[in-house]
Amino acid sequence: MTQRTLSIIKPDAVARNLEGAILKMIQEAGLKIIAIKMVHLSLEEARGFYAVHQQRPFFDSLTGYMSSGPVVVSVLEGEGAIDKYRKIMGATNPENAEQGTIRKAYALDIEKNSVHGSDAPETAETEVAYFFSRLEMVR
Ligand code: GDP
Repeated sequence: MTQRTLSIIKPDAVARNLEGAILKMIQEAGLKIIAIKMVHLSLEEARGFYAVHQQRPFFDSLTGYMSSGPVVVSVLEGEGAIDKYRKIMGATNPENAEQGTIRKAYALDIEKNSVHGSDAPETAETEVAYFFSRLEMVR
């Protein structure tokens, strides 16, 4: 099934000029970029995006970090795009990430882990809509 998923190249990766390298891994996996932009989230915008994690002990640290610098947000489309992207991202904690994944190659630690990807169809829909209007996505 063709799906769409939201990708974020996080501040730690953008700060190290890794956007191109990460987008290359995404494209080589066969995912199509159907929308893309660079944004610098405010703290409130980061808190809104990660609202599901509000009760987690790392919420303040995570949202502070996500608003600390620019990020590259994109919508990826492809067959089974949600799981496919989760697979090439690798585990949340880079210490557990498999060889060949984005997080294994670039993540600094469990928080500064270089990329975000939606984890299910419902979250993908909400997350895409958080950043992009219909007009901003090619069809
Ligand atoms: P993901 O779906 O793999 O991104 O992982 P989660 O949904 O569980 O967590 C969202 C994000 O919160 C992760 O990508 C990390 O940036 C951050 N995070 C997750 N677990 C921890 C943690 O134990 N400590 C800190 N500081 N950040 C975490």
